[in-house]
Amino acid sequence: MPEPSGRLTITVLGSGTSVGVPTLCCSCEVCHSDDPHDRRLRPSVALRWDGHCVVIDTGPDFRQQALRAQLPRIDAVLYTHGHADHILGLDDLRPFNYTQHEIIPVYGSEETMKIIRRVFDYIFHDGPTESSRPKIKTHAFDGRPIDLYGLEFLPVPVKHGKGPCHGFRFGKAAYLTDHSEVPEESLEMLQDLDVLFLDALRYKPHPTHSTVEQSLKIVERLKPRQTWFTHISHDLSHEQAGRVLPAGVGLAYDGLEVAVGL
Ligand SMILES: [Zn+2]
Ligand SMILES: [Zn+2]
Ligand SMILES: [Zn+2]
Repeated sequence: MPEPSGRLTITVLGSGTSVGVPTLCCSCEVCHSDDPHDRRLRPSVALRWDGHCVVIDTGPDFRQQALRAQLPRIDAVLYTHGHADHILGLDDLRPFNYTQHEIIPVYGSEETMKIIRRVFDYIFHDGPTESSRPKIKTHAFDGRPIDLYGLEFLPVPVKHGKGPCHGFRFGKAAYLTDHSEVPEESLEMLQDLDVLFLDALRYKPHPTHSTVEQSLKIVERLKPRQTWFTHISHDLSHEQAGRVLPAGVGLAYDGLEVAVGL
């Protein structure tokens, strides 16, 4: 279905933490929950507007997520950082290359692009090959906004433990995943939002991720109209954790669609 003009649809492809939920070898209640909202693939979103489709991150579940969301095409990929749960599905861009007959541009920080070049070394070899390789063009971004098909994406630097990571602001929406701290200058870039996605791994503190409490503090400060928590571990039951969140804040779930005006 084409998106109505002037609207952007954000589809949550995955709302889970790096190991996904259910988590392998785990016998906890959430991992055995019957609630489909408690099944969380690795974190990613698809953004669709005016016939364009851009995804943020391609984790290990990307193929399954693209099938489920029926992504018709991919015009570009934005990467938040180079961790395995965000990049390992990159090879599954190949079928999009076959059908679109074009090279797909991918964007990330200089550091993220270095990791992608190392992990996916085979993609960047010139010369003949017996099997297909993803056809991508890498673009390292600096602090400036990236113009994709008439929509500006502003990279928002965040701290992910000791490492760097980027969220993105696009129009009145922003997607932040994998942050333990959002610096003051970045909070300034997130004023006046209709929709905000934030990392909220669990209740207990974690060295590289935000907790529910820490992310609620960001919500209090920024006051977006709607907030969705993502990168969720098996410590949070969708029903129980969702019930006690304040109005305007919810736990994201795989398949959630949020519309925002452009
Ligand atoms: Zn992650
Ligand atoms: Zn579990
Ligand atoms: Zn990470």
